[in-house]
Amino acid sequence: MKYISTRGGMEPTEFCETLLEGLAPDGGLAVPEELPRLSREQLESWRGLAYADLATEVLGLFATDIPRDDLARMTAAAYGPHNFPDGPVPLRDIDGGLTLVGLSEGPTLAFKDMAMQFLGQVVEYALERRGSTLNIVGATSGDTGSAAEHAFRGKERITVFMLSPQGRMSAFQRAQMYSLTDDNIHNIAVSGVFDDAQNLVKELSSDLEFKRAHHLGAVNSINLARITAQVVYYVWAWLRASDDAAPDARGAFEVSVTVPSGNFGNILAGYFAKGMGVPIRRLVLAANENNVLDEFFRTGVYRPRPAAETLKTSSPSMDISKASNLERFLYDLLGRDPERMNAAWRELDETGALDLTAELPRLRGEFGFFSGTSTHTDRLATIAAVREATGEIIDPHTADGVKVARDYVEEGVPMLVLETAKPEKFQETITEAIGVTLPLTAELQEMLEAEQYVVEMPADAAQLRAYIEGNAAL
Ligand SMILES: *Cc1c(COP(=O)(O)O)cnc(C)c1O
Repeated sequence: MKYISTRGGMEPTEFCETLLEGLAPDGGLAVPEELPRLSREQLESWRGLAYADLATEVLGLFATDIPRDDLARMTAAAYGPHNFPDGPVPLRDIDGGLTLVGLSEGPTLAFKDMAMQFLGQVVEYALERRGSTLNIVGATSGDTGSAAEHAFRGKERITVFMLSPQGRMSAFQRAQMYSLTDDNIHNIAVSGVFDDAQNLVKELSSDLEFKRAHHLGAVNSINLARITAQVVYYVWAWLRASDDAAPDARGAFEVSVTVPSGNFGNILAGYFAKGMGVPIRRLVLAANENNVLDEFFRTGVYRPRPAAETLKTSSPSMDISKASNLERFLYDLLGRDPERMNAAWRELDETGALDLTAELPRLRGEFGFFSGTSTHTDRLATIAAVREATGEIIDPHTADGVKVARDYVEEGVPMLVLETAKPEKFQETITEAIGVTLPLTAELQEMLEAEQYVVEMPADAAQLRAYIEGNAAL
């Protein structure tokens, strides 16, 4: 399996090469030359596998440059009882014919752990293999940063510089990152919103000289290895949802999936899984008030909003107005033609919008994408309604998913909603919705009260460069 760039300017590379890159050298994103295809027989043969073993099978299709035994050792470490004491990815039914897919059982209580724990293993492995070091520079709206820091803390060859938008994360998210005391973890709070922080990261990684001199790499949501690791739980979720179907009905068993979305990474993995042959009928994108992607899937016009127009909402991990990973889907939509991609990006730069209304029927028909928006009021009402009906308390992002999913349920097709975080991370909104303060374990309480380590900085590339130069892994 080789990887190429959406803009057409990269020699085909191996999985471990793309692992340590952010943007491709031509400014595009790495995509598989061709998606692996899964037959129904192959899917069926995986039904009895534990999660880590399923991950070895699925990731083995993408990471063809890693020997199987090495991969198995890494998936066992990433998805074993140390990180998931009760096992990864439980499914549970809630009201209205919906099923929650539990992706938040890992160390930082959000779905980002699912991919990041594997990335922590495989990046260290790749660096050892080539005898080099890496400085990870990333931007986070909350959950990516803590998942990355918890996956890379204490790793010898790796230093992490994590930018976060000042004052835009919940107290819990801040504590999860800023309380870490590992020498290789640097928290940097940038004035502005998530897009300001992400633009700084992009500026640094497009400076090829600086990037090479300091071994910069990215683990944010454009990282291809993360997408592939996320494909695993779509396969798992389909297997578990179809476990109870009669064996001869399993082949035709379809599910739909709703995904609370921001940077389009999670749902892109679902799109890959569908493209590989996992029987997914509808891929429903749930947005919050920053609903650029809902607008795109409804109208065919993609109009990213400037950082200044990004609203601060009560599902903060989705407060994104420029979805980096959409490029990977657009590449397929535009016939995997780099010339059309480059033209599209020119149009976007020149006019501020990309008009793909001609492709609108294909979005639903050929690709199965549907979408909707959930607001603060919807979020609170949904948290309360689910609690009322089932006793479950869901987090605000998952609530956005549940709200939008309800509009797209079809008779006889299970609707899976990806649970992207645990409610404890977003206590204030839970209290606002249902008047309850969630009890915290002693360990979490201690984390919230611990001393915090963070450097504050304006959104200024020169200052960031200087800081990295002073603290980088050599
Ligand atoms: C990251 C995140 C999202 C958005 O996922 P994308 O892959 O960026 O679309 C949604 N919910 C939570 C809780 C998250 O951490």
